[in-house]
Amino acid sequence: MKSIINKFYMALALTALSAVSVSANNYFDKEEECLKVSDIQAIEGHFQQFQNFTNTNKAEVCRDEVGEKWFEVVRSTLAMQRLTVTDQLQRDENDDLTLRPVGDKDWWTYYTQRANQFVIEPSRCNANENIVAFVFPFFRGSINLCPRFFEMDPASQIEVLMHEVRHFDGHAHVTCTQGNEQGARGACDQQIKSGGSYAVSVQANVELSYVDQLNYGDRVLAEAGAIYSINNKFNSLPTVKSEDYIYASNKDGEVWRMPKGKVSQAELVTTLKDAAAIYGNGSQFTVFPLNTQADAFRTSKSFITRAKSIGAYANMYNASSQRERSEYGPISYYGVGAIVKSNELHTFCGTQATSMTAKEFNEGSIKALPILKNDKGEDHMFILSDSGEMFDFTCNDQNGRLSVVPTQKTFPTDVATAFAFDQKTAYIVTTSGSLMSYDLQNETYTSELSTDQNWISATPLKVYNVFDNDLK
Ligand SMILES: [Zn+2]
Repeated sequence: MKSIINKFYMALALTALSAVSVSANNYFDKEEECLKVSDIQAIEGHFQQFQNFTNTNKAEVCRDEVGEKWFEVVRSTLAMQRLTVTDQLQRDENDDLTLRPVGDKDWWTYYTQRANQFVIEPSRCNANENIVAFVFPFFRGSINLCPRFFEMDPASQIEVLMHEVRHFDGHAHVTCTQGNEQGARGACDQQIKSGGSYAVSVQANVELSYVDQLNYGDRVLAEAGAIYSINNKFNSLPTVKSEDYIYASNKDGEVWRMPKGKVSQAELVTTLKDAAAIYGNGSQFTVFPLNTQADAFRTSKSFITRAKSIGAYANMYNASSQRERSEYGPISYYGVGAIVKSNELHTFCGTQATSMTAKEFNEGSIKALPILKNDKGEDHMFILSDSGEMFDFTCNDQNGRLSVVPTQKTFPTDVATAFAFDQKTAYIVTTSGSLMSYDLQNETYTSELSTDQNWISATPLKVYNVFDNDLK
C-alpha cells in the first residue's frame, strides 16, 4: 500500500500540475489531452483492458472519450514505457540514497513482468482517504488505484506503480515506529537495505529527479518525495550522505552559503535582483524581496530555476496589496511552517491539507519564529516575543484551533532569525544585521560568522549529496 499522510508533501503534490503543453503526445505532461491510438495498440496485448480504447478509426483518443481515470492510467503507463532511466548515480555503500533494489535499467520490463491489469477505485479505497494504491500479493498482476492516484503528478504516479509491483516480489509493510507517521499500520518498512517497496519508492524518486523528460516542478517533487521517505518511511533510519548548510542573504542581494562549522568554506551562491529574506524548505528556497513591489517566489537550490508552485505563504503574501505587505512579520518553513501578518500567526491546522488558520498573538509582538531543538532534541518552532519570552504553539487538528503556551525559555531581544542544528549552538541574524553564533547553554553570543553588518536572513538547508546538482 502506498499512502501519503504528511500534509506538506501532500500539499506540494496536489499543486504541481504543469501549465503548458510542450508538444503533442508528451505522456509525461499532465496537461496532455489526447493519446495516440497506435501507441496504445503497441501495449494492449499486455494490458488487455486498453483494447476498450482502440476500437476507433481515429488516430487519437482524448480525455473526455476515455474518461478521466482510464486516461490517467493509460497516459502514465505510456510514460513508464517511454521513461529513459539515466542510471548515472554511482553506488556508494555509505549512502542509501544510491541503493538500486530494481537493478534492471529497463523499468518497463520489470514493471510489465509484474503488472497487467488495473482496478479503479475499489471500495477498499474508502477505508482511508490517504490510500493512493494497493495490491493483493496473491492476485499477481492487478493494481488497485484509489482517487488520489489520478490527481498525482506524473513522476509520483510512476513511483507509485513501481512501489506497488515490488509487493509482488514478496515485500510487505510494517507499523511505523518513528517519524511523522509513527504508529501508522502498514505505512513503513523496517529498513531500506531490505529493498522493499519504500526502498523502490526512494530509488524511483531519486532517479525521477534526474530525468529530463519530466518538467522541473515534477522533478523537485520527486526529490522532496525521496527526502520525505528517507526520514519517515523506515523504522531503522537509512544512512545518507548530506551536509548541513547555512544559507544567508544580505542587503546587497547576495546569497552566501557555508557548511555548518566551516566559515572558511563560505561561497557566494547568487546575487538576487532585489535584496530578500530567504527560507529553505526541503529542497528549494522561498524568497521574499524587501521591496514590497516585488512578488515572493520559489527557486531551486542554486537559485537558477523558478518553481511554478510557490506555496501557501508566498501566495498569501503575493495576493496582498503593497500596503498590506508591509504588515508581514517573521516567516518559518519548518514542518508546516507559519507566517505572521499584523501580529497574527497564520499556519495549517485542521483535518484538511488546505486548512489555514490564524491566531492573534496577545503576549506582545512577535519578533521571530526560532527553530530550536526542544527538550527531546527534536526540531521545534517557537514564537519569540519582543520582550524575549519564548512561546510554544499547539494545534488541535480536530477543531482546527491554535493555542499559544508560554515556555521557560528566554532568548535575546535583538533576534530577527534563529535556528539550530543541535542543542548547543544557534545561528542568529540580529535586527542590526549581524550574523552570529549563539551558545544555547550559556545563553550568550559567541562569535560573528561575518564581519559584515548587512545580513537580512539566514536559513538552514540540508543538502543531500545525490541532490547537490540543482537538477542540472
Ligand atoms: Zn506499499
